[in-house]
Amino acid sequence: MKIRFLGTGTSTGNPEMGCRCEVCTSRDKRDQRFRASVLIETEGKKILIDCGPDFRMQMLKTLETDYFMHLDGVLVTHEHYDHVGGLDDLRTFGREKAVRIYTEDYVAEAIRTRMPYVFEEHKYPGVPNLELHTIENKPFFVSGIEIIPVRLMHAKLPIFGFRIGNFAYLTDLKTIPEEEYDKLQGLDILVINALMPREHIAHQNIEQALEQIRKINPHHAYLTHMSHRFGLHAVMEKTLPKNVSIAFDEEEILLI
Ligand SMILES: [Zn+2]
Ligand SMILES: [Zn+2]
Repeated sequence: MKIRFLGTGTSTGNPEMGCRCEVCTSRDKRDQRFRASVLIETEGKKILIDCGPDFRMQMLKTLETDYFMHLDGVLVTHEHYDHVGGLDDLRTFGREKAVRIYTEDYVAEAIRTRMPYVFEEHKYPGVPNLELHTIENKPFFVSGIEIIPVRLMHAKLPIFGFRIGNFAYLTDLKTIPEEEYDKLQGLDILVINALMPREHIAHQNIEQALEQIRKINPHHAYLTHMSHRFGLHAVMEKTLPKNVSIAFDEEEILLI
């Protein structure tokens, strides 16, 4: 399995427009973060998790080294714009076959409401060719690959994380319902959100993410969905336990 981080930033992206802080003006490429998303390649299938407003630029960079124009599926964690704002740009991937989007019913409804032109009966020529597949909190398959949804709480909003094999991607969570931890046993790689050192109402801060990592106990964990208030990558990585890394854009992990 290959995991490529397309974006590792929070909803504003880093740098934040107009901000002159040390992270936003850093020359370290790892401090420049697109909105959070990953591309998974496993058994020859390509699965995208979330499709935010930076999707087009993320894919242009990806296609420079790995050319493909087909996605087996797009898993959407929740309806917030930083996770769905690029769905319209999937149009180039849907030219031969509809792009299948997997998400829970209220998120599917939100997508339909925001993009009515995509789902009309008589479509305008050239609109994105997308197919919404509603999922529940139970395993499902995308081109033969088993996906296990994991219920997470983004403050009061129920959202999904996803487990594929021994890899799990959990973003935007504040808490995990106790009964979901069973699904997270025996992970090689856990990706989990850590916004910044400070407390936030809807996102884990760094300490809360580290606590989850201790509890879930994966072989290795990567932090994602960082704010510019997270701190400089080069400084913060020295403060973390050995089995925890800070993910950065365009980083790739190979899992055998
Ligand atoms: Zn987000
Ligand atoms: Zn800043």
